Amino acid sequence: MGAAATLTPHERTEQAAVNGPGWRFALVLGGGGTKGLAHVGVLRALEERGWIPDVIVGNSIGALIGAAWAVDFTMAELEAVALSMTRHDVFAIARGEMATRRFRAPGLYKDEPLEMLLRGFLGDTTFDQLTRRLVVASVDINCGMVTYWGLPGLRSVSVADAVFASCALPGFFAPREIDGRFLVDGALADNLPVGVAAGQNVDGLVAVDVGSSSALRAEVQESGFAAVFARASEIVFHQMMENRLSSWSGPPMLLVQPRVEHVPMLSFGHNRELIEEGYRATCAALDQAGEEVRHAAGGIYPRRLVEVAVDRARCIGCGACVVLGPPGTFRMDEAGKAVGPAEPQDWSPISGGFIRHCPTYAITAHPARAARDPKGGASTGIARARA
Ligand code: SF4
Repeated sequence: MGAAATLTPHERTEQAAVNGPGWRFALVLGGGGTKGLAHVGVLRALEERGWIPDVIVGNSIGALIGAAWAVDFTMAELEAVALSMTRHDVFAIARGEMATRRFRAPGLYKDEPLEMLLRGFLGDTTFDQLTRRLVVASVDINCGMVTYWGLPGLRSVSVADAVFASCALPGFFAPREIDGRFLVDGALADNLPVGVAAGQNVDGLVAVDVGSSSALRAEVQESGFAAVFARASEIVFHQMMENRLSSWSGPPMLLVQPRVEHVPMLSFGHNRELIEEGYRATCAALDQAGEEVRHAAGGIYPRRLVEVAVDRARCIGCGACVVLGPPGTFRMDEAGKAVGPAEPQDWSPISGGFIRHCPTYAITAHPARAARDPKGGASTGIARARA
C-alpha cells in the first residue's frame, strides 16, 4: 500500500490540490458482484496520484464502495473492510421464507446481513448530509424507471436504503421500498452509469467496468443455474455497455477494465487479488492515457492502433462483420469473402466487439506493428479470448 493510504480526508484534498490532475472528473463504479472489490484498488491508485473524484456515480457494489468513500473512509479503512468481507457478511439464505412461501418468497437471501453491513457504516445518513458527492443507480421493479439517488430533489433519502436497492439483484434480494417505490439493482438498465455521470458538471470521466465480459467460456450450461445466471448477466452488461459507449459523444473518458473475468460474481475467495487487480489496471490506464484524456475534447481512452485481418479459409461469407462492424471497415469481395481494412484502426477499449459475432472466428485483431512489443506482441483482449 502506498503512503497515501493513511491520509485523512483533509490531507487527501490538500494533496489533490498540489498533485492533482487539475481536471474535474466523475468516477463511475459499475456493478459486478464481488468482482467490484477491485474498485477499492482503483480508488487507491487514483488517490496515490492525486486524482480525487468530484463525484462518484455507482451501481450495486460500485454504489457500496462509493458510499464508503462518500462518508470519508480512509483507504486503510476501506481496504481493511474489503479484505475482511466474507460471504456471511452479505448472504444468508432465507430458508424460512423459501420453505413457507416458496415461489412467493421475496428473495433467495435474507435482507439482514447486507442491511447490517450498510447501516454499520452509513447509519441513517442521507445524501444531503454527505461531505462528498455520491449518485446511486437503481431501477423501479414495477415501472422500469431508473432512479439516480443523490441528484437534486433525490437527496433526502437514506444512503443505506439507496445502496441496498442498488445491490438488490432481482430474485436474490427483496426489492427495497423507498418513498413508496420498490427498487432493485440498477444493472437492469444502467450497470455502468456514465450518462448521468457526464451531466455532473465535470470535465471528464474515469469509468470502471467490472461486470461485463467478452471472454469465451466453456461448459457454462453444465455448471448449474447460478453459473448460467451469472454468465447471462455478464453478456447483458457487456452488450449494454457496448451499445452505450459505441456512440459516446460525452466528455472524454478513461475506461478501466480490470481483468476480473475469471472470478465468479458472488465469490469471496479473491478479495486481495481483486483489490490488487483494480490497482494495477488503473495505474496502467493512467500511465497509458492519463495525460491524453485530460487534454482531449472527447472520446474513450486508452486508444491503440490495431491491425484487423480476415482468415479467408475460415470465412463463410455470412456478412455479419459488414453489418455489425463500423461502417466501411469490412466489405465482401467477388468471391463472397470478407475483406478487412487495409490500414490500422484507431481503437478505444470497447472497439472491436463485432469480432466475437463472427461465427467461424475468422477475424483477428493485433496491435499494429509499430506498437507491438519486441517479443512479438500480445493480441488484443478479444484476440486473446479467441486463443
Ligand atoms: S463475420 Fe466472419 S464469417 Fe462472416 S463474413 Fe465476416 S469474416 Fe466472414
